[in-house]
Parts: sequence; structure tokens; C-alpha cells
Amino acid sequence: MIDSRDTLRHQGLRKRLTEGIRIKGIRNQQVLDAIAKVPRHLFMDSSFIQFAYKDQAFPIGSGQTISQPFTVAFQSQLLQVQPNEKVLEVGTGSGYQAAVLLEMGIKVFTIERQRELYLKAQQLLPEMGYFPKFFYGDGYKGLPTYGPFDGIIVTAGAPIIPQDLLSQLRVGGRLVIPLGPTEKQIMTVITRVDEENYKKETHGTFVFVPMLKGTEK
Ligand code: SAH
Repeated sequence: MIDSRDTLRHQGLRKRLTEGIRIKGIRNQQVLDAIAKVPRHLFMDSSFIQFAYKDQAFPIGSGQTISQPFTVAFQSQLLQVQPNEKVLEVGTGSGYQAAVLLEMGIKVFTIERQRELYLKAQQLLPEMGYFPKFFYGDGYKGLPTYGPFDGIIVTAGAPIIPQDLLSQLRVGGRLVIPLGPTEKQIMTVITRVDEENYKKETHGTFVFVPMLKGTEK
């Protein structure tokens, strides 16, 4: 990505952030390279720009947040997808997670239930050279006509496993989803073993904004 608003200073800060994330345990080089490339400050309100390269979540308007870079890296690593594979992201939000996956060479389908955020991301990402397929809708339902997906990543805390998403995974595909009540969720990976069977593993506690039903104007 070449953008005049991305200065050497930003690139330096991003290098430090990436090194911090590596030390916290992310070892997938494609993920680290993507974090080092995506200009996170351009996804945030300008009033918060000085926080862009701290490893923290931040408000993006409409009561939502841009996820913590470590969490974005952790979920991206858990997907275990290869370049050119198809990933469905639930919760476009700022579009930052989608940009990280695109830098990894993945084909990204992203769905958002809040119209304002959907419209904002749909304008911002192409300006930066990122071209996911954008959808406005309820991520609980997924995108049945575009599946099956090699991976599905949910970036909001889900109280239950959305059954529609399971059926949109290919055999061998993985659903990465924070599961639990609003206070905290357990990062869960559900792998489709064959047509009928799934296996589940867990990866520690996180706090996300809630995954809500339906859409919002
Ligand atoms: N991936 C985003 C994180 C945004 S926070 C980023 O990188 O910035 C989670 C997002 O999930 C919010 O924008 C919220 O509106 C959205 N969301 C919550 N429930 C949803 C649902 N059922 N379908 C689609 N999006 C949902």
C-alpha cells in the first residue's frame, strides 16, 4: 500500500508494534508481515491517531471498536488459511481486520450489521487499495450463496455458535469465534472434520463488543 498519509514515522511505530506482537506469541510470518504493512492509523478517527500503534482496542463510532492488534493477529493466525483461500469475516467494523487478511493474500467477504459502519468501510478500504467484498446484513446468517468458506472469523462476542456459519465451512475449514456472555468470551476454533462432524478447541479469554441479531439502520 502506498499512501502519502503513511509516513516513515508511522512505519517505524508499526514495526515496533509488530515486534511487540511477535514477542506476545504470534509466530506466523504472513500475519506479522500484514500487521507491519496495514496503516492502522488510517482506520481510526483522527482524534485517536496517536493511539493507533499502541496494542489496544479503540472506539470507531456507532458504539463499536477497532480490535486490539494482538487480537487481530491472534485470530488471523488461528484461521490457518493460505493465500487465495476464501474467508468470511463477521463484523467489518473499521475494516482493519479485513485489510490484514487481504495483505495475507486472502479473498475476503465481510459482513456488517450497522449501516453506517458498512458504508464507511466500503468507501475507505478501496481508497487504500483494499478490495474485499462488502455486505450489509446479519452475520448470524452468514453468506450462504458465497460459501463454502475455507475460514470464518467472527470479530464480535457471540453468545451461541451460529449454526448457519458451521454449515458454510468447507470440510477442513475453521470457524474462529469468541464465545460467551457479554463480560468475556473464550476464543474458540471449530473445525469441520467431515460433512457431519465438527471438533472444538479453545484459546483463552478475550473481551469483544457483542454479536447482535438483525441489522441496524
Ligand atoms: N473487525 C472489526 C472489529 C469491529 S467490532 C475491525 O477490525 O475493526 C465488531 C463489529 O461486529 C461491530 O462493527 C458490530 O457492529 C459488528 N457486528 C455485531 N454483530 C453482528 C452481526 N450479527 N452481523 C454482522 N456484524 C455484526
